[in-house]
Amino acid sequence: MGRAKQEMIEADSRGWNEPDGYVCPDCVEDEFLKSIILDNACHQKCDYCDTESDDDVASPVETLMEAIRDTVFYYYNDPTCAGVPYDGGSFIFDPIDTHEVLESLGLECDGQLFDDVASAFINTGWVASAHGHWASSHQNEILNASWNNFVNVVKHEVRYFFSRIPNSKKTDSQEYSPPQLLPIISHLANELKLISILPLGTNYYRVREREDGADWELDLDQMGAPPAVRAAAGRMNPAGISYLYLAFEQQTALAEVLERPPCGAAIAQFDAQRDLTILDLTSLPPLPSIFDDSCRDQREGLLFLNRFVEEISKPVRKDGREHVEYVPSQVVSEYFALGFQANGQPLDGIAYPSAVRPDGKNLVLFPSKRGYERNFDQVVFRSAQEQKFSTWSELFASINV
Ligand SMILES: [Zn+2]
Repeated sequence: MGRAKQEMIEADSRGWNEPDGYVCPDCVEDEFLKSIILDNACHQKCDYCDTESDDDVASPVETLMEAIRDTVFYYYNDPTCAGVPYDGGSFIFDPIDTHEVLESLGLECDGQLFDDVASAFINTGWVASAHGHWASSHQNEILNASWNNFVNVVKHEVRYFFSRIPNSKKTDSQEYSPPQLLPIISHLANELKLISILPLGTNYYRVREREDGADWELDLDQMGAPPAVRAAAGRMNPAGISYLYLAFEQQTALAEVLERPPCGAAIAQFDAQRDLTILDLTSLPPLPSIFDDSCRDQREGLLFLNRFVEEISKPVRKDGREHVEYVPSQVVSEYFALGFQANGQPLDGIAYPSAVRPDGKNLVLFPSKRGYERNFDQVVFRSAQEQKFSTWSELFASINV
């Protein structure tokens, strides 16, 4: 067999022709691709930006191709291989070219390098696919669809016994049913290390609106969680079951409660009496590079969790409909309060981002013992003070926006 033919067969099986040239890390934006170049640097000059050094600063473009190829084939495929049906002699939707594929994957790099990578691919027409097939879905898409179904079921179909709804209720066979989804979310929380310990002694804040002339005491009775019989439905707690809502910052506690001046607030400080074990939804790990084949599962899980956190912490209008809008996050909270353990211990609560103050963090504590009495032995009431806000500037200064 001739050398040219041998090279063609090899290129076909790889999916690309070996591009010539050397590239330095400064010519690509993605950190993972930069790391591949650094690990394989064996040349003193970059052919794209003309950087030169006495040290090896550039690696063959070919070293990037495997990661880029794997990513392209993770999200796209040749339309015939992907099983796209024909209708009237053409595919039922138009394939896109390699440039469009690389743009959709967010490949940011030197323009000539981009062209070289695109033209190295043998295939020129692509359709979005998962697991090689156009009609399949990636895990985060399946989880998103499952969450949409979960929300719809618990809001409008079955509130308390959704584990009994027949599987036929599922709209897509790849989706997880509501009872399947909750353990998957808790599994993701463990996998992505979202269970955190908040140390003993940490200060938390709680605010109640205080009208002019109000004379109720600034004590635990007034500043703690409401008694169960008076507990209204909240973002995380069902009506009649009292949770203790706190914030990590005084400014966040004020921003969550106050709406417009003139207004007044009672601000209480609580201190943790012990280390608290919580589900921490306030600082999800960063998304791994789309080009890192070893982190695909983690990336899929995080894509879903980012959307999930956004959904359960989004602002909800207090127009009476909140009793329904809060139901999905209440079900998730009760699942984590009662159906989840970290190292054999039940969770104390959930930390979640503030919907009204950027970077603000809230903490909701589950009752340490269920019943009529308020039982939140995780924290102790320290003190409370009163503050009034006459103008927007006074209010903004206090909530730090
Ligand atoms: Zn360069």
